[in-house]
Amino acid sequence: MNSVLMAISGPSGVGKGTIVKKFLERRKEVGVSVSCTTRAPRTGEVNGKDYFFITREEFLRRKDEGGFLEWDEHFGNFYGTPKAFVEEQLKKRSLILEIDVVGALNAKKHFPDCALIMIVPPSVDELKKRLEGRQSETEEQVCSRLQRLDYELSKADEYDYVVVNDDLENAVNKLEEIYLSLLTKKA
Ligand code: ADP
Ligand code: 5GP
Repeated sequence: MNSVLMAISGPSGVGKGTIVKKFLERRKEVGVSVSCTTRAPRTGEVNGKDYFFITREEFLRRKDEGGFLEWDEHFGNFYGTPKAFVEEQLKKRSLILEIDVVGALNAKKHFPDCALIMIVPPSVDELKKRLEGRQSETEEQVCSRLQRLDYELSKADEYDYVVVNDDLENAVNKLEEIYLSLLTKKA
């Protein structure tokens, strides 16, 4: 079966989660990898759907057992992509990894066919507005997320595709075009 792997990255608050959710509503055949994290769930987040919320002890145990395709620490919490889950899913369907730039570049080492897609904001001001509008982080957390922005954007030239999330519908259309072109290339 033809399946493609797409890693979607971009600064926190740029709209990755929103774009992926809309894309998956259109493309029900595509799955999304659920990462493990040690951070606390935000209001409305569901264990096993948004993330697997696990303790630091559990995370470190799984990491030592080689259970993560890649992992990283952000803002004092661990995040990792469960390896067995990705391998199993890819046998059945296309899959999205929603991970940061370091994670995506590491995933590409395991899966050279993985398409790297970066979502960028139309401007820094707009990104700040979105992060603040989400009301899920403290002011200090918003600042630390913004500080990482330059680093994330500096990796854009290592990516296969860059999508500007100005208008949400446009960004979802663009992601769908990329997905369809990858499928065609595989056929
Ligand atoms: P990420 O997953 O990248 O951290 P989210 O998907 O949580 O970001 O989006 C951050 C905030 O920005 C949310 O409140 C979301 O509704 C809003 N948002 C996403 N895309 C757009 C867009 N194109 N225009 C305006 N607001 C947007
Ligand atoms: P958030 O706490 O906002 O959901 O995510 C914080 C950061 O962790 C984001 O940049 C997000 O892309 C990244 N992230 C989420 N899951 C993973 C993962 O499995 N691996 C890595 N390396 N980063 C992740």
